[in-house]
Amino acid sequence: MTASFFGGVHGFFHSTTWSVIETVAVIFVVVLWIATVFWVNKDARRRIASQPLVWLGTLLGALPPFLGPLVYMLFRPPEYLEDVHERRLEIQAIERRLAARQCPVCNAEAEPEFLVCPVCATKLRQACVKCKRPLEPSWKVCPYCETQVGAEPPVELRPKRPARPRAPRTTEPRATETQSPS
Ligand SMILES: [Zn+2]
Ligand SMILES: [Zn+2]
Repeated sequence: MTASFFGGVHGFFHSTTWSVIETVAVIFVVVLWIATVFWVNKDARRRIASQPLVWLGTLLGALPPFLGPLVYMLFRPPEYLEDVHERRLEIQAIERRLAARQCPVCNAEAEPEFLVCPVCATKLRQACVKCKRPLEPSWKVCPYCETQVGAEPPVELRPKRPARPRAPRTTEPRATETQSPS
């Protein structure tokens, strides 16, 4: 009875059924291994800029099988390259915005509406000749009233020349030269 049972088990492991199961299992493991190597390569390309390091990471993902990807995950860069790039752009934009709100001479805080720096009196912006709103140095035309930058101010807004103080008229005769001496 026992002998026939072990004989059966022995027979099973030498049967074609077992060899088929074995082959399928080996193929499954190999496919899984290739898939992990592909995954490591794809992940490394998204996180590592240097090409040799990407291939080094892929090699680590391949060998030792299945353990390599775990080791790779411990040492991979924490961020995707595009996230790093995006964050760098955001920081640059913030820096530009801050620089635009600073006096270039004394670094005092200057609102975008300021024409001169309130601390060191540096000229920061021109005012539009017509609507008097602050203009950025790169602007060719005032965006608020369409006046050309550098155009002559409209007549009614030109500063009037200060009137010369006239000498008060005297009602008295100016000279007595013509008067004949009595
Ligand atoms: Zn200043
Ligand atoms: Zn204007």
